[in-house]
Amino acid sequence: MVFSDRSTGPSLSELTEGRVLERIFPRLPLASAALLGPGDDCAMLRAPDGRYVVTTDMMVHGPDFREAWSTPFDLGWKAAATNLSDVAAMGARPTGLVIALAVPDHYSVSVLENFADGVRAACAELAPGCGVVGGDLSTSRTFTIAVTAFGDLEGRSAVLRSGARVGDIVAVSGTLGAAARGLSLLFAEGVNETGEPDAERAGQLRERHPDTVGIQLAPRPPIGDGAIAAHAGVTAMMDLSDGLALDASRLARASGVTLSLESAKLGPADEAVLHGGEDHGLLACFPADADLPTRFRRIGVVSAPSDSDVTLDGAPLDARGWDPYANWDGNAG
Ligand SMILES: [Mg+2]
Repeated sequence: MVFSDRSTGPSLSELTEGRVLERIFPRLPLASAALLGPGDDCAMLRAPDGRYVVTTDMMVHGPDFREAWSTPFDLGWKAAATNLSDVAAMGARPTGLVIALAVPDHYSVSVLENFADGVRAACAELAPGCGVVGGDLSTSRTFTIAVTAFGDLEGRSAVLRSGARVGDIVAVSGTLGAAARGLSLLFAEGVNETGEPDAERAGQLRERHPDTVGIQLAPRPPIGDGAIAAHAGVTAMMDLSDGLALDASRLARASGVTLSLESAKLGPADEAVLHGGEDHGLLACFPADADLPTRFRRIGVVSAPSDSDVTLDGAPLDARGWDPYANWDGNAG
């Protein structure tokens, strides 16, 4: 849909904030941990073990998404998924989301309704029980999405990036390189003759390439695997938002070790797999004698610190990855 398509409902400028919220609230997922949901000045969430993890992540039109390529449903899905993924990376179970949106006021109200539907679908599939407990709406010429996520550690220790030990197994859960392949396809073929992002071409591409373009637009991170890894004795973990090489270098540096990756375990150890971002899988280290949980696959070992934070088959691997500043042309359509 076109975001300003008036046939799908009045524009935001034609409604009061109260009327807009009335249309959105019933579509949002309820949080099972909420003692008090949206409607008061604050929500109130249960924190059964006395601690909670909290994270926030923004998506801004231009550096983070293109309206021609993503539907409002996709944006709701992706904004939820990327935040849920950070909660999972701590070994926690997501409990609640707070969402703030700044939206051009000529947009149809259906944009926010569909965004809410995307958030609800992502929570239902990826993190059942997690819901939206509050938020804020404003207007801006640039569509801006800010999500804050909370999670429950259920009595476990938080899993940090700094716990990897020499001899540990390095493993991943989730896709590697799929989102980056999807983005390359969109830039190559999801544009019109003048190079502008094109909704129709993007839609056709997505139908042909659900496992890459579909993952780029609506990633399916293995959220439940965070708590499963924690139960299995994971020593260090993070989500793969900026690419395997860059994120592995961050974990290696935090732990004071080298991550020695093995190309034979990576499938095609190409640019997308090594340096592509936005898959939001989990990178995790487990003790050498641990039974890897089902969806985790071994991709290397933790070695003693060396000149390189990350190696591939023994050779230094450049810590290069997804960078919203480097990838934004400043003039996105
Ligand atoms: Mg992260």
